Amino acid sequence: MTFVENLVEAARGILPAMIAMPLMLLPFIIMEQVRPAGERPGWRDYSMNVLINWTTMLLTLPVGIAAGMASVALRAYLPWRPIAFDFDTIGTLPRVGGAIEIAAMIFVPLLLHDLWFYWAHRIEHRVPFLWEFHKLHHSDERMNCSTFARDHFLQATWIAIFPILTLGLVIDLDAVQAGQAAVLSGLALSLISMFYHSGIRIEIPLLDTILVTPQVHRIHHSRDPLHHDRNFADVLPVMDILFGTYHRPTPGEFPATGLGDLGSSPRGLWSAQGVPAILGLKAIAGRGRGQTPG
Ligand SMILES: [Zn+2]
Ligand SMILES: [Zn+2]
Repeated sequence: MTFVENLVEAARGILPAMIAMPLMLLPFIIMEQVRPAGERPGWRDYSMNVLINWTTMLLTLPVGIAAGMASVALRAYLPWRPIAFDFDTIGTLPRVGGAIEIAAMIFVPLLLHDLWFYWAHRIEHRVPFLWEFHKLHHSDERMNCSTFARDHFLQATWIAIFPILTLGLVIDLDAVQAGQAAVLSGLALSLISMFYHSGIRIEIPLLDTILVTPQVHRIHHSRDPLHHDRNFADVLPVMDILFGTYHRPTPGEFPATGLGDLGSSPRGLWSAQGVPAILGLKAIAGRGRGQTPG
């Protein structure tokens, strides 16, 4: 398929996700209205994040497709053969069965995702040019379940490009299984991310070191400089524990979120998507060094 054919196909493919995303938020919205962790989010907070997410989805498609096509083209020149990975064989192992196959489809990609994501995320907090894009995600002053989708389109591009390029070079998955694994793990990631971004006053100390919980991720979004550069992991806190950036929440610890002294929250779609792109380019040119939290 040509680039344009791929693009049209992919755009059709993401329409259901664009419609489903706000619907999936509903149960979390109800819980955070009933039991808010901080200032109660309003409908404008939710709708702004949905708008940012829709524009980001559409703007990142061309780059994702180009990276996927580059990965396939590069394979022909590899001095090694990508590992032929097959989720079916996991399911046929004695005493294991289909449930473990589905679990593997969810968790193998998530583990690989977190290995990459942790370092990409840490770098975003260090490099002024990348921080200009990531700042949008941190600017939500009433962090809520929809904040999970509040990503600048250039940040989403930078986060997506490496796994698409590198995974295809290491693992040779059947196209249908790759699609299923992407859908299953993507769905799991969205649900986990909606939950831990939600502003629900909930404490689950037993899970805090196993899965990222609302309290663990709230520390990452905290305005308090004491919490800066803590809890970078997207799913598994083990990454933070291993690399010394873990902050275990204490009982009742629900800090205020947002940029604080590092900036303000954008009021419209242009200031959310357009302005950071310009500031990022200026940071590259060395004229406007951004201020990072580190
Ligand atoms: Zn961050
Ligand atoms: Zn976040």
